[in-house]
Amino acid sequence: MSSGWSVGLDIGGTKVDGVLLDSASAVRGTLRAATVRGTDGVVTCASRVVRELCAAAGIDTADVVGVGVGVPGLVDPRTGSVSHAVNLGMDLSDVPLGALLTSALDGVPVRVENDVNAAALGAAHLLGLGADLAYLALGTGVAAGVVLDGRLRRGFRGGAGEIGHVTYEPSGPQCACGQRGCLELYASGSTLDAAGPVGPGLRASHEVFEAAAAGDPRAAGVRDAFVEAVAAAVRLIVLTYDVERVVLGGGFAEVGEPLLGGVHAVLRRQADGSGLLRSLASADRVVLAPPGAPVAPVGAALAVRGRV
Ligand SMILES: [Zn+2]
Repeated sequence: MSSGWSVGLDIGGTKVDGVLLDSASAVRGTLRAATVRGTDGVVTCASRVVRELCAAAGIDTADVVGVGVGVPGLVDPRTGSVSHAVNLGMDLSDVPLGALLTSALDGVPVRVENDVNAAALGAAHLLGLGADLAYLALGTGVAAGVVLDGRLRRGFRGGAGEIGHVTYEPSGPQCACGQRGCLELYASGSTLDAAGPVGPGLRASHEVFEAAAAGDPRAAGVRDAFVEAVAAAVRLIVLTYDVERVVLGGGFAEVGEPLLGGVHAVLRRQADGSGLLRSLASADRVVLAPPGAPVAPVGAALAVRGRV
C-alpha cells in the first residue's frame, strides 16, 4: 500500500489552500494558490497544488493515500459530486469533481466534503478536542460542521448544521434562501462589513470592534448586535446537539478575543435568567479556532483517510 501521506485542499472562491500530512497526521507542507473558477479551472488548479505539494516534499503523487477536498456547496461524499458551488463558478448540479480530479491525478483516490464539515474535522484534530464538537463558521454565511461521537454528522440530505437559515427575526429582511430574518443575516461577517465604517472587506470587522472599544456608540451597537447573534447560534447548537465544544472559526472569528469575550458575556447573562441555560453552561464550551491554522485542508486530508 502506501507510505501514509495524504493531501488536503480547501477550495474557496478566491484561493486554494493545500496541506500535506504525513502518516502521523502532522502537517509537512502547505501551499496556497489562486482559484481558477469553473469546473475545468478548479480541477486544473487543484491538481497543480497537489503535484507541487508532493514535489516539494520529494514524494511521488502516486504515493499519497488520497486527496481530500473541501468545497463550499452541496456535496455527496459517496460519489464526490458537487452541486451549486456558485462561489467556484460551478453552478450546475452533480458536477463529478471527485472523479475529474482523480482522473487529472492519474488515479489517486479523491474524497470531496463540504468545506465547513472538513473544517470541523480539522479543528477537532488541531485543537486536540474530544469526540463531540461543532465548528461554527463565521464567513460570508453562517453554518456549523458537527462531529458527534467522533464522526461527522452530515445529515440525511447533507443539511446538518445549516443553522444560518433558522429564523432569528421573523419580521426581518428577506434572505436569499426565501425565508425572512434568517440568523445568517445577523451573525455573518458580511453583515458586520456592510455596517462597517470603511466599506466591505475583512478589515472592516476588526475596525468595527476597535472603534467600539474606543467608545464609538454606532460601532458598539453594530458589534453588540453581531455578538448577540453569534451567541444565539452557539445557544442553538448547544441546545440541539449538546456538543462538548463549540469552535468559532471562519474569517470573521479572526477578530479573536474581543469576539470570544463578547459571546461569553452574552451567554453568561442569558444563563443568569434561566436555570436550564445555567445548567448547560454554554459559555464554558466556546473556544476560538487556532488563528491562521489550516483547519479545513487538514480536515479534508483526514477525511480521505477515513478517520472520521
Ligand atoms: Zn435564509
